[in-house]
Amino acid sequence: MLRALRILAAAAVFVGLNLFFLGFAEGTGGLARIQFAPACMAFNLVAAGAVAAVTMLAGRIYCSVVCPLGVFQDIVLWMRKLFAKANFSYRPGRIVVRAACAAAFVVLALCGGAALAGVIEPYSVYGRFATHFFEPLAAVCANAAADLAARWGHPCMLKTEIFVRGWAALGVAGVSFVALAVVAAWRGRLFCNTVCPVGAVLGLLSAKAPVRIRLDAAKCVKCGLCAKACKAECIDVANGKVDQSRCVRCFNCLGACKKGGMSWK
Ligand code: SF4
Ligand code: SF4
Ligand code: SF4
Repeated sequence: MLRALRILAAAAVFVGLNLFFLGFAEGTGGLARIQFAPACMAFNLVAAGAVAAVTMLAGRIYCSVVCPLGVFQDIVLWMRKLFAKANFSYRPGRIVVRAACAAAFVVLALCGGAALAGVIEPYSVYGRFATHFFEPLAAVCANAAADLAARWGHPCMLKTEIFVRGWAALGVAGVSFVALAVVAAWRGRLFCNTVCPVGAVLGLLSAKAPVRIRLDAAKCVKCGLCAKACKAECIDVANGKVDQSRCVRCFNCLGACKKGGMSWK
C-alpha cells in the first residue's frame, strides 16, 4: 500500500514537472520551486526548510517522490526488470566519494562555477534531458500529428519548429543520460548515494530520522529477500541494520519480506 501510494505520488509529480519543462502547464511550476538545490541557491528558505524538515522526520521521501532524476532512475530500473530480475545486495556506503562530490559541488557553486556544478546537480541534469531530448521529441510527435490531420482533410494544427540548443550542452546531456541509465540499470541508486550532492545532504539529515525503515530481528529469518529488492543496497541483513542515510524510502523492502520483518515506523 505504501509503495503504491509512493509510486502514484511520484508519477503525478514527474508528469507535472515534465509538462512544465515542455511548456504545456505553467500551473505545475510550483513543483520546480520545491526542488532542493535550486531552492537553496535561490534562498527559498520555506521550500528548502520544508524538504529538510520532512527528511529529518521521515527520511528521503523527496528522493523517491519529488526529484525527477530519482524517478528517471526508477523508470530505467523498471524497464530493466522487464528483461531481467534485479538482484541487489548490501554494500557498505562510499562516504569518502560522497563527501568529495558534495564538497566539489559546493566549492564550484560558491566560486562561480555553477555551470560545472550543474553537471551533477540533479534538477539541472534532468532539465537537460527534458529540454534537449523530450522537448524535440514532443515537437516531432506534434508535427507528425499535424501531418496526419492535414492528410485526413483537417489542417487544424500548426507545425512547430524543432530546436537544438547548442551542441556542447547536447553532448553533456547525452553523456549523462547514457551514464545514468547504465548505472541505474546496473546498481539502482548508486548515483544517488555517491555522486549526487543533494543526496549527500539529505543523507546526513535522514541518518537519525525517527520515522525509519526498521528490520525486526525477532521476525527475520535472514532470507535476504529485502536486500535483493533494495535499490539503495543499504539493508545489512547479517547485522540486522538499515543504513538510513542511503535509504530512499521506496518501500520495496516492505512487500519483499514475507515474514513481516520490515516496517516504516
Ligand atoms: S539523491 Fe539526488 S538524484 Fe537521487 S533522488 Fe535524491 S536528489 Fe535526486
Ligand atoms: S526479507 Fe524479511 S525475513 Fe528475509 S532477511 Fe529481510 S527482514 Fe529478514
Ligand atoms: S531500505 Fe527499503 S525503503 Fe529503503 S531504499 Fe531499501 S528497499 Fe527502499
